[in-house]
Amino acid sequence: MLKVKSFTLGAFQVHNYLLYDTDTREAVLIDTGKDPEPILQAIATESLDLKLLLYTHTHIDHVEGHGTIRQAYPDLPAWMHPEEQFWVEALPMQAQMFQMPIPEPPVITGFVTPGQIFTLNHFTLEVRFCPGHTPGGISYYVKEGPFLFTGDTIFAGSIGRTDFPKGDFQELMDSIETQILTLPDETIVYPGHGPSTTIGQERMTNPFVLDYLASLK
Ligand SMILES: [Zn+2]
Ligand SMILES: [Zn+2]
Repeated sequence: MLKVKSFTLGAFQVHNYLLYDTDTREAVLIDTGKDPEPILQAIATESLDLKLLLYTHTHIDHVEGHGTIRQAYPDLPAWMHPEEQFWVEALPMQAQMFQMPIPEPPVITGFVTPGQIFTLNHFTLEVRFCPGHTPGGISYYVKEGPFLFTGDTIFAGSIGRTDFPKGDFQELMDSIETQILTLPDETIVYPGHGPSTTIGQERMTNPFVLDYLASLK
């Protein structure tokens, strides 16, 4: 059975998600927020076999804990979209903007491509390219859930900010329309901040989604 454990970390209350199968114990970690020791504890308590680290994007709050995870798992494959290199290089600037210490930049071992599928023994994760909040934003779709890990692209009743460098509102709404709303209504959405939701709920009630869909008619 597939399980999702959520960890809320750091000043921005970012959610990291540990997705795992209770039979094989294979696990995938989505993003690494500040002081991720509770994640390491959960991996130990549940005797999980951490296979992959996947980044939705590399804003500072989503990568701050990379060093701690890397120390515990020096060989862990870590993936992001190549366009996110912009925000990795801007980590010192991001730290200064929010008056936070500069984190260790994440050690990335692979670049995802749109449509790519990560295959584990009992589940898969599909890379859905969702630029707009950041240039290389990714949502990861697990059809066996069905679950969608959206980072800061869409939230319950809201959407990601597009007023940062390289943010683009039109691009964000286009990503939501083509990469997120095309998934089944029952898909559980696990965002980077705030409560989880479903595709159906957002399709029917998210004011940004409703405005955008109305503007297309
Ligand atoms: Zn963000
Ligand atoms: Zn965030």
